[in-house]
Amino acid sequence: MLVNAKEMLVKAKAGKYAVGQFNINNLEWTKAVLETAEELKSPVILGVSAGAGKYMCGFKTVAAMVDAMVESMGITVPVALHLDHGTYEDCYKCIDAGFSSIMFDGSHYAIEENVAKTKELIAVCEEKGLSIEAEVGSIGGEEDGVVGMGECADPDECKLIADLGVSMLAAGIGNIHGKYPENWAGLSFETLDAIQQKTGDMPLVLHGGTGIPADMIKKAISLGVAKINVNTECQIAFSAAVREYIEAGKDLQGKGFDPRKLLAPGSAAIKATVKEMMELFGSVGKA
Ligand SMILES: [Zn+2]
Repeated sequence: MLVNAKEMLVKAKAGKYAVGQFNINNLEWTKAVLETAEELKSPVILGVSAGAGKYMCGFKTVAAMVDAMVESMGITVPVALHLDHGTYEDCYKCIDAGFSSIMFDGSHYAIEENVAKTKELIAVCEEKGLSIEAEVGSIGGEEDGVVGMGECADPDECKLIADLGVSMLAAGIGNIHGKYPENWAGLSFETLDAIQQKTGDMPLVLHGGTGIPADMIKKAISLGVAKINVNTECQIAFSAAVREYIEAGKDLQGKGFDPRKLLAPGSAAIKATVKEMMELFGSVGKA
C-alpha cells in the first residue's frame, strides 16, 4: 500500500537523514527502485514528472502499476507516489488517480496567487490524506519545459508558504536540475540556514540532487534537508550500462536481443545508483 510522505519526512528531519525521491520512467525503473529500497530497508519516494506520466499513458496507469507492483513484489518499506513539479491541473489529476503525494509548483505565479492555489490544494490533500510539497524560488535548469534560473529563495516567503500547512518545502538555494555546469557556484548554505531558522521543523526538499558533491549533500541534510530528488543520475547510469552491452555486441549473441536481457544491465545500474544515494542520504535501515 502506498503511504503519503509526511511521516517518513518528519522522521527523517528529526533523525538528520534524508529520504530520496527517485523519478521513474517505466516498469523497469520502478522495479529497480522498489527492489533497492526493500533490500536496504529504506523508505522511498517515487517521483513522476508530467512528461513521465504522459509517457507511461497517464497518471492513472502509473498509480495502478505502482500500487500493483508494491503488492506483488511484497514491498514492506514505506513507498510514496509523488507528482513532481505539478501544475495546478495535474495536481488534481494525480489526486484523482490515487497518488499519495503531490508537489504543486506555483513558483512561476506571483506570491499571492501561489499562496491562494497552495491553500486550496492543501485543504484537498488534508481531506484525502495526501502529502503536499510547495516550491518557493525557482530551481535552475530545465525540467519538462519548466525553466528556472537557479535563484535563492526568500526565507520570509518560505515561512509564509510553510505556515500554510504544506508537508514539505522546496526552496531554491542555488541548486539546478540536470548536470551542473563547470562554473557552478555551489549551494548557498547561508540561505538554507536562514530558511530552516524561519521554518523550524518543516522538512526541506533539495531538487537537482545529481552531481552535488557528497560533502555538500551532508551539510544540506545537517541544515534541515529531509528529501533529495534524484533523476538525471539514474538516467546517465542506465544509458551507460545499456550502451556498454550493445557496444560489446551482446545483443547479437544468442538471444541477447531479448529486451529482458538487453535492459538488465541498465536496471542493475539504476539499483547501484539508488543504493549509493540511499547510503549517502543516510536512509538505509530507517524503514
Ligand atoms: Zn525539481
